[in-house]
Amino acid sequence: MKIPYVSFSGMHDDIREDMNRAFLEVYDNAWYILGKQVDEFEQLYADFSSTSYCKGISNGLDALFLSLKALGVGPGDEVIVPSNTYIATVLAISYVGAQPIFVEPDKRTYNLDPSKIAAAITLKTKAIMPVHLYGQSCEMGPIMDLANQHGLYVVEDNAQAHGATYHGKITGAWGHANATSFYPAKNLGALGDAGAITTNDAALADKITMLRNYGSKKKYYNEAIGHNMRLDELQAAFLKVKLPKLEQWTRGRQQIAEAYTRGLQHTGDLVLPYTAPGATHVYHAYVIRTNRRDELMAYLTANGIGTIIHYPVPPHLQEAYQDLGYQKGDFPIAEELAGTSLSLPLWPGLSEEKVNEVVSLVQHFYKNP
Ligand SMILES: *Cc1c(COP(=O)(O)O)cnc(C)c1O
Repeated sequence: MKIPYVSFSGMHDDIREDMNRAFLEVYDNAWYILGKQVDEFEQLYADFSSTSYCKGISNGLDALFLSLKALGVGPGDEVIVPSNTYIATVLAISYVGAQPIFVEPDKRTYNLDPSKIAAAITLKTKAIMPVHLYGQSCEMGPIMDLANQHGLYVVEDNAQAHGATYHGKITGAWGHANATSFYPAKNLGALGDAGAITTNDAALADKITMLRNYGSKKKYYNEAIGHNMRLDELQAAFLKVKLPKLEQWTRGRQQIAEAYTRGLQHTGDLVLPYTAPGATHVYHAYVIRTNRRDELMAYLTANGIGTIIHYPVPPHLQEAYQDLGYQKGDFPIAEELAGTSLSLPLWPGLSEEKVNEVVSLVQHFYKNP
């Protein structure tokens, strides 16, 4: 690949020495689970998120699951989730034994459409899970208003939008318990699996601390059937080095997105990313849409450009969810997005020259059918 879909070099070259120092600190301290590094990172990430508490969790999926579990969501409950999300959001609902209720996204932002949520609320609805897809904040004001009116919990899936805002308030600070992922390729990524939950609720934070560690607050005394879902000291140490760089990396992502948008306007049938008024976008992915998606993808691959489809199959059509009984056509917007979306190369450090190369190839594709 001349230009891969993602590369860490632009970020990691810069922090190589600091990361080495972080590794050696943990190595020499010889304390690897739930110690100083996790405590310090939790404080830093809570501050970053404008929340009172952050709890380090093993990964994003576990953080989503523990958020729902700590809120008491379980069998018999319904949870509203966008029909075009990554499978992890839906899996977390399944893990607690609740029923996912899919709501179609807004066709321009690809995020949960607040105006469509109300119709999906029933007496069984317990929570709404907005997903800040591709890095754009959902319209959290209207979503929180609706949740408050109906007495529902909100659990944000903030795996893709570290640092995005809606009317100035950061993602991960709105809901009752909010999950994020630090999977290596996320905007803030560890060097392995990692995640976190942010909340302003002290009792909930306490419960999550207990549930992530075998249901135990006091060693060898277990008050609940808990889990081993802790963030590693080593990953926390790496994340402490990377978090202060996030703002700069986010600006880099936004500049690349702007360059793509300038270069690709009015090209073929391309639909470019749209950001809703009041929302900001931190461009975890730059997703374009075209009816000739598979052709365009093949053309770019043949020319050494890496692209990814986020996501080729919506959750309701996944084999894993056959039992829910959905069919093709049940969620047409999610299905259309799955059939037309393509994410272009994007990472902090991707040069303007390379962005221009991608732009030229895409333009060439449409000029020479
Ligand atoms: C990555 C991701 C997750 C899952 O995070 P992991 O750390 O990989 O478990 C959940 N939701 C969304 C939207 C994601 O992009």
